[in-house]
Amino acid sequence: MEKKAIFQKVSQIEERIGELHHELRGLKEQLAHLIEENHYMQIENDNLRKRLDSEEERTNDKPLEDKAQKKPVVGEGYDNLARLYQEGFHVCNTHYGSLRSDGDDCLFCLSFLHQK
Ligand SMILES: [Zn+2]
Repeated sequence: MEKKAIFQKVSQIEERIGELHHELRGLKEQLAHLIEENHYMQIENDNLRKRLDSEEERTNDKPLEDKAQKKPVVGEGYDNLARLYQEGFHVCNTHYGSLRSDGDDCLFCLSFLHQK
């Protein structure tokens, strides 16, 4: 190989090393950016998870309250009305709370109780 050719070859390699160095630096910057982004994503993820947990706690409390308040209350209310009726009182809108005469069945009360 001629001296000039060797010199050209070395110059080409130097140029490629320079390009690779430039590319490597670019990749390093991207990597640093991704690491930083990942770091903030983890923080944000932690915050969102905490918020989700606290909201789940809140919404988990609610259905329990609803169950405790709505359904049983309706059942309880119905049971109370049925018991009142059995004890001889009107539970219908027209005579609510008044005593049924001698335990006669009231059609209004019965239809009201059977609605539920
Ligand atoms: Zn009645």
